Amino acid sequence: MAFRLRTARAFGNFTALRVVFPTRGLVSAAPVETIRSAAIAGLHATGNIRNDWTREEIKSIYDSPLMDLLFYGAKVHRENHDPRAVQQCTLLSIKTGGCTEDCSYCPQSSKYKTPVKAQKLMDTDEVLVAAKKAKEAGSTRLVQGFCMGAAWRDLNGRKSNFSKILGYVKEIRSMDMEVCCTLGMLDAGQAKALKEAGLTAYNHNLDTSREYYPKIITTRSYDERLTTIANVREAGIHVCSGGIIGLGEKPEDRVSMLHTLSTMPKHPESVPINALLAVEGTPLEKQEPVSIWEMVRMIATARIIMPKSMVRLSAGRVRFSQPEQALCFFAGANSIFTGDTLLTTPNNAFSEDQEMFRTLGLVAKPANLGENEPTLPIEEKTVTNSSSVSI
Ligand code: SF4
Repeated sequence: MAFRLRTARAFGNFTALRVVFPTRGLVSAAPVETIRSAAIAGLHATGNIRNDWTREEIKSIYDSPLMDLLFYGAKVHRENHDPRAVQQCTLLSIKTGGCTEDCSYCPQSSKYKTPVKAQKLMDTDEVLVAAKKAKEAGSTRLVQGFCMGAAWRDLNGRKSNFSKILGYVKEIRSMDMEVCCTLGMLDAGQAKALKEAGLTAYNHNLDTSREYYPKIITTRSYDERLTTIANVREAGIHVCSGGIIGLGEKPEDRVSMLHTLSTMPKHPESVPINALLAVEGTPLEKQEPVSIWEMVRMIATARIIMPKSMVRLSAGRVRFSQPEQALCFFAGANSIFTGDTLLTTPNNAFSEDQEMFRTLGLVAKPANLGENEPTLPIEEKTVTNSSSVSI
């Protein structure tokens, strides 16, 4: 039955709240604690674009009772997106392994002994065949995006490989698909060149909080990450940036990472929320998997504080059942990677995903390809937090 909360006196005077059942005009007293928690979660679920979130506000959302968080995540989601439309992207590792970085979760790092073998950049034929295959799978527009990942620190000293990649971007964009890349750190000139080639979005995750980051990666700094994101934004490419949970971080680190993302001058258009898939040979191989409730908490919080962004249920989805994934979509996730692998880790089978879409009544979100591609409004408010975001 539909109900609403009514304040008898000033908002925030929780003891004066009553639950009103409009259809029958019934007024019943509800336990004060229940109402208080619902009101705290709901207080921030306005759907307004804000770039001045405080950590305390985000923490109060993140710490809300789960059912309230789920409800308000769903509310904001429905007010800002078609709740049935889910973006599906295909991810291809175009250059696997042998990376000089030391990201503790990554089997592609050359620092760790993992089953992943270093390979050269894929040649043109292989990449374009894979893109065409994704396109054919999406003949009914099931697949909207094609994302290419390369295991590199950056593109410096890789002139010929970079010019090949620019060629891939041009070709794939001409197939009417959104094109995304994740190629490590970018300088301003490289970002501009990718934009000119037609790149839709660039993925560069924060991974975790600034505070916890040195425990996960030592070969590049948090500020270097933020500089790459700023270069991408400056070039006019959509920013795809999120993180991973299950790295051993505390809830405060998750809040801190969401704070950095949501207080950027413009929210990332896409926010991937990954759950660690621990890989043998990496320093995090023994890490306990996160629960579905932690994923739902992250997704709903991200949805409430970044209402217009695409929130991607990303790596780690393979561990979740269809009912668990349904909770994530309900909480506000509206993007997934499809395909049997995600770079080097397993992913849900394409056919299972399509069956899940049928069961849940989800539909593929059309690609944004035109000049009128919607972008998020830039919030004009001053960034008031103390994070060192310099963009
Ligand atoms: S996450 Fe990326 S940068 Fe880090 S080791 Fe893996 S491939 Fe290299």
